[in-house]
Amino acid sequence: MQRKPWPAWIGLACHNCFKQMDVQLFKCSGCRRISYCGRGCQNSDWKKHKDMCKALSSLEQNPFAATELISLLPTEPITDVSKLAKLALQQANVYSKYLHGPIEIENRGSWVQWEPRCIVCTRTDMVIRMEAAVKGKTVHDTMHLIPCPECKLSFCCSHAHWDIAHRLHYDPCDDLRDGRSQCYMNKLAHGQSMIGACCLDSSEGHFVWIPNRIKPGWVSLEGQSWEGEFGDFRKILEMPQSTASTFVMAAISDTLTMPMTILYALCKLSGDEWTRKQMLTVHIVGASSREFFCGRVFEEILHRTPQVKTLKIVMCGPEAPNHNTLNPEICSDCIKRGRSYVLEFIPEAYHDFVRKQGSDFKHPDLCIGFNSGANYSRVCGYTWPATFKVLVEHKIPSLITAYNRQDAEADAALLRAAGAALHPGLGPVLNPWGSLKGAPSPHNVHGFLVNSGWLAGGFK
Ligand SMILES: [Zn+2]
Ligand SMILES: [Zn+2]
Ligand SMILES: [Zn+2]
Ligand SMILES: [Zn+2]
Ligand SMILES: [Zn+2]
Repeated sequence: MQRKPWPAWIGLACHNCFKQMDVQLFKCSGCRRISYCGRGCQNSDWKKHKDMCKALSSLEQNPFAATELISLLPTEPITDVSKLAKLALQQANVYSKYLHGPIEIENRGSWVQWEPRCIVCTRTDMVIRMEAAVKGKTVHDTMHLIPCPECKLSFCCSHAHWDIAHRLHYDPCDDLRDGRSQCYMNKLAHGQSMIGACCLDSSEGHFVWIPNRIKPGWVSLEGQSWEGEFGDFRKILEMPQSTASTFVMAAISDTLTMPMTILYALCKLSGDEWTRKQMLTVHIVGASSREFFCGRVFEEILHRTPQVKTLKIVMCGPEAPNHNTLNPEICSDCIKRGRSYVLEFIPEAYHDFVRKQGSDFKHPDLCIGFNSGANYSRVCGYTWPATFKVLVEHKIPSLITAYNRQDAEADAALLRAAGAALHPGLGPVLNPWGSLKGAPSPHNVHGFLVNSGWLAGGFK
């Protein structure tokens, strides 16, 4: 699957070549959702886009879909972000119900989610056109959302709604690090996406870098933060102190957040005995391509626990490749010390994996679910509640992370419903070791999508 940068989903970058600078973009006239930099790009993307383009246009013409979508719109503007998120999710459900056609499954979710919407009433361009059509007005191209003049990444359906949305967009936002505003984070995320697309990201869209050193001894991550690590990273990268490094550090943190969050959860749940074990085992539940392609990054766990001999990472989930055990390449220092890293793929749901093993099941030191999005499981068809039940029943030390506050709070409720007694330090709370890179959140009209930005809940 080709990973498209998020600006390409909202018409801000060419949907084919992802260019956004120095090009004149024009909207696809069929769906009016995405943009291209020229006929060449549109033609070469058409084979892939055709089915979805037609499905979106027929959704727009469908009177039942129109009635349902319009009936979901609030009568008054809303500033309660969780209410807005719920409405956006209900709209996504209507999309899922009426989007028919032979559509490639991987991209389906992105088409349903990534659509700019008014931040206080959830209207999208398509809904605005549908409303006009229902009222018998002629639909023309000037009927569209008004972007924020500063970041151009948040929208309202009218100037009146912008007056109401003003505070939500420009005031400090409490689900973000350092209390930044949505508008500030939009600009930062946009800059990161451009740099990411042109120089930092590796071929699968992920930038993997781990500091090439083994720490002399285990140091707890409690009370620590990325800022404390950056001095080290800069030295290893031979970057002078004065280098503008925000973007580099954000890119590094985006994958390094995985081992750091694992270590942080182990600190909170299990003291430090585990740092002296021969073999440390971590199960990743609901593992996705992000984890598969970034397997190398987990060597950082070995680099911070010099007494551990073997690290075993088991990536489990329906998206995992065929059952397979690998020995990923590790650094020469780790080899010299006789250490090893074992990576195993289990292509099934975690609860099936545990049940099938019966009494042979060996408890891992930690089970982690990155950005589970469990509360969207009804939309995506995943079975997180069943997995949560197995984790609780088997008393497996576990942590679930989330993209943002709303997701974390919803996932925490699901964990409690499965019987988990949540550790007060592990959520729902901002993750000190969450990624420093973000993207606007497609489900939510407010808030951000940050890899493991929040911890939903930890328990054992
Ligand atoms: Zn292009
Ligand atoms: Zn189209
Ligand atoms: Zn509005
Ligand atoms: Zn803005
Ligand atoms: Zn190493």
